[in-house]
Amino acid sequence: MATLTITDVKKTFGKTDVIHGVSIDVAEGEFIVIVGPSGCGKSTLLRMVAGLETVTSGEITIDGRRMNDVEPMDRNIAMVFQNYALYPHMSVFDNMAYGLKIAGTPKAEIAERVAQAAQMLQLEPYMGRKPRELSGGQRQRVAMGRAIVRKPSVFLFDEPLSNLDAKLRVQMRLEIKELQKRLGITSLYVTHDQVEAMTLADRMIVMNAGRADQIGAPLEVYANPATEFVAGFIGSPA
Ligand code: ADP
Ligand code: MG
Repeated sequence: MATLTITDVKKTFGKTDVIHGVSIDVAEGEFIVIVGPSGCGKSTLLRMVAGLETVTSGEITIDGRRMNDVEPMDRNIAMVFQNYALYPHMSVFDNMAYGLKIAGTPKAEIAERVAQAAQMLQLEPYMGRKPRELSGGQRQRVAMGRAIVRKPSVFLFDEPLSNLDAKLRVQMRLEIKELQKRLGITSLYVTHDQVEAMTLADRMIVMNAGRADQIGAPLEVYANPATEFVAGFIGSPA
């Protein structure tokens, strides 16, 4: 578990300001959802936390340690994307074990951690299969498994369910929430889907054109929208 702080973070690409100064303190084990329309800067914010984009100004810390210049590999963060990016030629087991192998984790420990994750995610029957032999939901679980075996202190999700059909999306949403609570991993979850945000979030950040219009618990935001934008966005399900 870890605390994560984002303090007055800004991002400029060339001459374009994309993030105009976003701040949030994330408590240990908290599930924060960043919600907003396409292009408002959700992925950019997440990628800065992951270290995949530089921070133009402001500060990001994990457990009080400044992260701005720390390499992605050294941040102890795991990221789950919408296109799971599994290795097609590797088995489920090898996909889940890969990051640990690279990190030099002893074989026995890899086996134990992968087995534990497989059990949690109900993937035990599929460990020998290749990604193409799995359903969309199963592939998403493998991507989750690959992330949790590394025992990250922070979990980042970028629209992880947007490639799934509606029914599966609802089911996986519940699974992600349950797993996150069970593991207690501090999480930032990006979505453009208001319903998903309302369902998953302990607190949500409603983003509008590079700004955080409001941060609060879902019902609080729903009942007392801070801006007209928030009222319109949260009040009208997609
Ligand atoms: P979202 O994830 O909310 O859809 P993004 O963070 O992907 O939004 O993008 C926010 C804005 O930043 C968009 O206008 C996008 O075109 C721009 N942007 C994102 N990445 C880059 C980049 N590498 N170079 C220039 N502009 C970018
Ligand atoms: Mg995005």
